[in-house]
Formats: sequence, C-alpha cells, structure tokens
Amino acid sequence: MPNIPLNIICPTCSKHGKIYVEDSLVKQNVRGITAINIVKNIICEHSFLVYVDKNYNVRDAVSFDFSVELPAIKMKPQNAPQIEFDIDIIKINLLPSFIVGVLKGIFYKSKILAVSDEDHLNFHYEAFFKQILGELFNIDLTFISRVEYVRNLKQFKHYLIFQRQELINDKDKILQPKNTKIESAIVEEFFKTPDNTSSIIILKNEIFKVHMLARSVIEYAKEQNLTRINAANLSEFLKNKHGVEINSSYMQFIVEVVNSYFSEEIEKKIKLVNSFIDLL
Ligand SMILES: [Zn+2]
Repeated sequence: MPNIPLNIICPTCSKHGKIYVEDSLVKQNVRGITAINIVKNIICEHSFLVYVDKNYNVRDAVSFDFSVELPAIKMKPQNAPQIEFDIDIIKINLLPSFIVGVLKGIFYKSKILAVSDEDHLNFHYEAFFKQILGELFNIDLTFISRVEYVRNLKQFKHYLIFQRQELINDKDKILQPKNTKIESAIVEEFFKTPDNTSSIIILKNEIFKVHMLARSVIEYAKEQNLTRINAANLSEFLKNKHGVEINSSYMQFIVEVVNSYFSEEIEKKIKLVNSFIDLL
C-alpha cells in the first residue's frame, strides 16, 4: 500500500507536489538511496527522478528523460577495480545532481570548484572521480573550504561552482536540465545498482563508451572531411563499428562532447543534420 508521503519539487520548473510511496520500496534498499521515477503530469509537465534515503528524506531531484537509452555496447569483462575509497560514503553523501554536474562539467572541459568544509570526505570524493574518469578524461576539479573560497572569489569567476554540492555559478549555462539527460541516465545506473563494485564498473563502462564513441565520431568526421554530418550516415557508421544502434539524443550528446572536450582535434565544430536538404 502506498502510504509514505513525500514532498517533492520539480528540478526544472520548481513546482511543489506530494506523492505517496510504498514503504517497502525504500526499506529494501538498506544502503544508500533509492531513485523514484516521477513521470510527466504527476507534478507538472516534466519527468524527473527523486532520490530518497532510508529515512524517507528526499535528498535530491534530477531532471530525467525516460526515453533516453544508453547504448547497449557489450563491454569486455574486467577484473574488479582497485578501489581506495569507501563506496558507501559516496552513495550516502554525494548528491546525484552533483555527480551529474561534475560529469557535464568535465565533458565540457570546465574548471570545477567544489566548496566544502567536509575535509574528511573530500579524499573519498576525489578518489571516486579519479577512479571513474581518470584514465580517459582530465579532471579539473578542486575542493576548497568556504573560508578559502571567499578569500579568493575573483579567481574562480569562470569556474563551475558548487557549494555544499549545490550549483552556485554556471556562467556558460551548461547545466540546464535539458542538457543533462545522458549524464542523469548514467548516474541513475550507478545508484540503481545495489552491488557496490558492480556499480563502479557500470559507471566506468558508461564513461568509457562516451570516450570511445567520441573518438569514433572524430574518426568519421576526419574520414569524410565534414563538419556538417548527416545523422543517418553517422548512425550507420557507428552501428557498423560498434554493433549497436545509437539513438539520436545520445548521438547529439556525443557530438557535443566532441565539440567541447575534443575541440582541438577537429577543425570546426561538428553539426549534426537530419536530412540531405539540411546538408546543402
Ligand atoms: Zn516541472
């Protein structure tokens, strides 16, 4: 019986609302937090995820598109990674929206600042991001105390800044809810997977796929000598190379990663177009 009331707020339009959930839903998940799907027209016209802890506190809400699918590329089985931080600490303390923000920031090559007085936890946070991204993407993420931040305000004007994991500065407006669908889906996979080591492997695999597909898009653009790329042709190329269909929103996301993170490897920004008429 749905019986626990939760007060929730849409992360896109800030509309408030109340939902009722079954207590078994959250109780089953003894560690960490549970994601609950809020589909369109329950609170407002947006769909999103709310993350609830085992005491039924709403910890976070993340814009989410239930039609977004991550590419089902088969990955080679790996040995369990050497993990030098506490995954429970990550799952209990790091807000999903913060992880989404850091991923987006890294894919955009932003400098990221996290203002936090939780010195004892920063080690785990840094090790976590290094573990999931470190071999593939440069991480420009600095943890800093509040006192030090206030003392050096000017220096961080162009950073993507989070304070206690909440976004307080985003000059380039990269963290719009509509721009973070893929990152939200990746982070959801992490929180949804109950086994800690598996959840890290899944997260690493998803980030590996982003990197691998971005490399393939660069290869295609160079081969074709194109900056305007027909989406259907690119989709065909990726299917031949990786054996799976990549949907259009994911392909658009990869092109954005190429244009921002790998901008030095392409001559001009790539534009994805849908028909031959657009190509002219
Ligand atoms: Zn809304």
